[in-house]
Amino acid sequence: MRITADRTRCEGHGMCEALAPNLFRVGDDGIVEPPTDTVGDNDLLQLVVDSCPVEALRLT
Ligand code: SF4
Repeated sequence: MRITADRTRCEGHGMCEALAPNLFRVGDDGIVEPPTDTVGDNDLLQLVVDSCPVEALRLT
């Protein structure tokens, strides 16, 4: 699966980075930088997607 971020929605709350620091990083601009590669742990990814308070993340 891949994860995409709508950078126009992200408000830099950092939940994704807190839950999966190996995959997500909030950049200096306060906007998430998601992994660009396919990532494997679907349960963790779904948790991260569900935890974003502005629903900026999508699994594809
Ligand atoms: S949890 Fe959502 S709003 Fe917060 S940094 Fe991640 S994508 Fe952005």
